[in-house]
Amino acid sequence: MSLSLFNTLTRGVQDFVPLNPAGNKVGMYCCGPTVYDFAHIGNWRTFVFGDLVRRHLEFKGFAVTHVMNITDVEDKIIRRVRETKTTLTAFTREYEATFFADLEALNCRRPHHTPRATEFIPEIIVLIEKLIARGVAYQAPDGSVYFSIEKYRGCGCHYGQLVKLNFEAMRAGERVATDEYEKESLADFALWKARVPEDGEVFWPSPWGEGRPGWHIECSAMSMKVLGPSFDLHLGGEDLKFPHHEDEIAQSEGATGKPFVKYWLHGAHLLVEGKKMSKSLGNYFTLRDLVAQGFTGREVRYLLLTAHYRETFNFTLDGLTGARTALARIDECVGKLRALSGAPGAGPSRSEAQINPQPAESEPGGPPSLLASFTAALDDDLNISAAWAAVFEWVRETNKQLAENALTATAASSALDTWERINSVLGIGAVAEAEVPAEIVALLEARQVARQARDFKRSDEIRDTLKAKGWGVEDSPKGPKLKKL
Ligand code: AMP
Ligand code: ZN
Repeated sequence: MSLSLFNTLTRGVQDFVPLNPAGNKVGMYCCGPTVYDFAHIGNWRTFVFGDLVRRHLEFKGFAVTHVMNITDVEDKIIRRVRETKTTLTAFTREYEATFFADLEALNCRRPHHTPRATEFIPEIIVLIEKLIARGVAYQAPDGSVYFSIEKYRGCGCHYGQLVKLNFEAMRAGERVATDEYEKESLADFALWKARVPEDGEVFWPSPWGEGRPGWHIECSAMSMKVLGPSFDLHLGGEDLKFPHHEDEIAQSEGATGKPFVKYWLHGAHLLVEGKKMSKSLGNYFTLRDLVAQGFTGREVRYLLLTAHYRETFNFTLDGLTGARTALARIDECVGKLRALSGAPGAGPSRSEAQINPQPAESEPGGPPSLLASFTAALDDDLNISAAWAAVFEWVRETNKQLAENALTATAASSALDTWERINSVLGIGAVAEAEVPAEIVALLEARQVARQARDFKRSDEIRDTLKAKGWGVEDSPKGPKLKKL
């Protein structure tokens, strides 16, 4: 069955067909964190949503190249560097490190590329030069370079692809210098910001004098450098539609003349008492706040995955307690299956590690299998509620069969196999999953990606690395299995 997704660009649910329909390669860019503070779990809702998209695509056999940038220069960061009297690198690297630690704690697969904006200044400059050469960017008297919306529209290009804009209210040539602004402030936006005293030591040389890039151009430069001028998927929270993503489209299409992204996916916000969880409102929890209260990354991940990605929901500590109860139900059932199947440590090494790219089928003539209902649910624009309903129906049915002693060891083992495949998408594991180190899981995934790309030299190298770390890999028709050597 094919996968359908809601594309913000077309305002509708569409079948997902990669740009290269003959291949199974997918390029996916998720706007990453601005590393000026700890990410809160509202931010994490969006990153976990990105992880779900990637895992489901991989489950369906696509070889995904997942890129997530690190915004390590931007207005808020510069302000904090100034306030804390530190250097840009010292300041941002600390938050970047905690971001990756949280990413692991929430069991998100690590993106294949995590470019830092500060390491893409030459690419950013080249991109701005192209925009100037094409007549859609200009240097203003303040020394900064701006994108001209009027000129861009004058070339027949479409500004306002993701959101409806009121151009009546816009005055030609009016400029906005900040990285974040409202739709009402629709104006030419900064690509390169001339150095001002408040920037301190944060500046680079450029053809337009010392300065630094605007936030939006960073993502255009990094995404196109890694994925090319046109790629399949671009994700972010819904607040990024305007101006960030709209500006990314304008800069990228303005420079290349090619369509930038085929599918734009936006995740709804995590709320607290009806209001967006945000730093500015102060109504936020970081992962460490919740861990300090005794919750785990696994419970937070589960909670963030309970609602459909296009629906907002309210975060509560009661919700997190509910997540714990739900996970305990799954753990209990999976634990019993493990005991019955008799496979020593059967679960741990297989759970995350067993990746089977084959899509699910239902048994002929029988009721839809867990795999079939689960896959159908997620194929339907990631209908996670229906996917959980299928999981808990399976838990109920399995518990019943276990209570009636109606399952053989072989049946239990096969039920576990099913669970492991489901879990390769959900990533919530079962308690013992932690026994396979994240690094080993990441290597196994990298080996799968190499094999799917028929890069057998690389996949053999990774197999050797795994061996050196004490893990063997057995390839079976159901996917690779890890074995502790
Ligand atoms: P930032 O680090 O501020 O650039 O944000 C990182 C990501 O978190 C972006 O994709 C935002 O859209 C997203 N985000 C911010 N607040 C929330 C929220 N309350 N719920 C869901 N996503 C959010
Ligand atoms: Zn971005």
